[in-house]
Amino acid sequence: MKHELPQLNYAVEALAPTISKETMEYHWGKHLQAYVNNLNNLIAGTKFENASLEQIVKDADGALFNNAGQVWNHTFYFDTFSPVPKKAPEGKLLEAINKSFGSPEAFKEQFNKAAVGLFGSGWAWLVKNDEGALVITQEPNAGNPLRSGGVALLTADVWEHAYYIDYRNRRADYLTAFWHVVDWAVVEKRFEGMN
Ligand code: MN
Repeated sequence: MKHELPQLNYAVEALAPTISKETMEYHWGKHLQAYVNNLNNLIAGTKFENASLEQIVKDADGALFNNAGQVWNHTFYFDTFSPVPKKAPEGKLLEAINKSFGSPEAFKEQFNKAAVGLFGSGWAWLVKNDEGALVITQEPNAGNPLRSGGVALLTADVWEHAYYIDYRNRRADYLTAFWHVVDWAVVEKRFEGMN
């Protein structure tokens, strides 16, 4: 099956100034498109030719995993944002965050610490693990929680291409601003979907 560039739920300029139009045009329009193209080229003639994206992410290795993982991760990342986001978690998600981290503010602080501290390129995640607890994880390169049986709730891309146009080397500033466009309604839906 041919994989396609996922469409955005907002215009490319809608997240500015947190994430500029230029970053979106490169990050979504060029980087993600390249991962999609690579994935389509790599599955040709393999057992993954008709597999779902999730199946490839779970089972493939090497370049095929790297490109499929990047397609999955970026789709999930861009789906988390809104120009008119719900600004704070409520209900069962709020209870779970309070239980695991103390408060939403304490969670954001710990999440940003993990994202800023991730050496090199990769992704920070909020995950419900296979024991049902909310945890923050760091994954290098295209890594993601699907492979370890976790349910992804939220992610921050900390590859330099995610922030270098807008924030240059200041990864911490990108992560501080990141929360302005995270739509907690999306995170709540992901959380509720697994119960
Ligand atoms: Mn990226």
